[in-house]
Amino acid sequence: MKLLTIKPDLRLGIQTDAGIVDVSAAGLSAAPKTVDALFAGGDSALDALRELAVSAPAEALLPQDSVGIGPCVPNPGKIICVGLNYARHAAESGAATPETPVLFSKFNNTIAGPDDEVPLPDSAVEYDYEVELVAVIGRRARDVAVDNALDYVFGYCTGNDLSARDLQMRTSQWLLGKTLDKFMPIGPYLVTADEVGDPQTLNLKCWLNGELRQNSNTSDMIFSVAEIVSYASRYMTLEPGDIISTGTPEGVILGMNSKVWMRAGDSVTVEVEKLGQLTNRMV
Ligand code: ZN
Repeated sequence: MKLLTIKPDLRLGIQTDAGIVDVSAAGLSAAPKTVDALFAGGDSALDALRELAVSAPAEALLPQDSVGIGPCVPNPGKIICVGLNYARHAAESGAATPETPVLFSKFNNTIAGPDDEVPLPDSAVEYDYEVELVAVIGRRARDVAVDNALDYVFGYCTGNDLSARDLQMRTSQWLLGKTLDKFMPIGPYLVTADEVGDPQTLNLKCWLNGELRQNSNTSDMIFSVAEIVSYASRYMTLEPGDIISTGTPEGVILGMNSKVWMRAGDSVTVEVEKLGQLTNRMV
């Protein structure tokens, strides 16, 4: 099932072959009306959405082109990111292959949706893109084993871990260069895990102004999604609605010999197989 949020109030929608189901208009009281309500509602909330996905009343169907789509998880409790998690990206960054996952975070001010404009402030210069597979937690996870860690993943979305490299590298902590306003576009869909299958076989791509820059596969990850969820859950409780951005493959501007950083007017498109594509213009 492909979930999404509908602008401007970011109410919950379901992408179906017949169009977008406006869950609030479907008249099913058990169905959650927002992503937050979905994560608070557990399995019964999800079951109600699955029912609507196959049998929504016609009056709840919105034509595809009439809907503005927002970020698929508008209000994550945590945004955990993994650095240097693809072998070829670690190599292009001149970094050693990490022996444990490199975790860092972003804040909720970074969340943006498909087609949102992303401001590039004058306070930095070295703006870069990073296509990433984003895992969304669906069940509280505390000290879970690798073998069943994926049971705690609700689903996945495409993300762009936008970065200001000069701010990122100013100190040993990457935070500043990672958490500028709207620097984490996610979406368009939150796709349930059952529809994605093995998260380690997905192609990822990124285009800058239409030019293919990143073209890889999650099979190149150093630490798998299951290993990352298990590892993080050893140290912090993961809650439904937390998101984990699992790292970017090679092809970022940082790794190029001749670095032409992004600037206002540039358009970045990122795509992960089965999860859809999102495009954001830098302004
Ligand atoms: Zn990243």
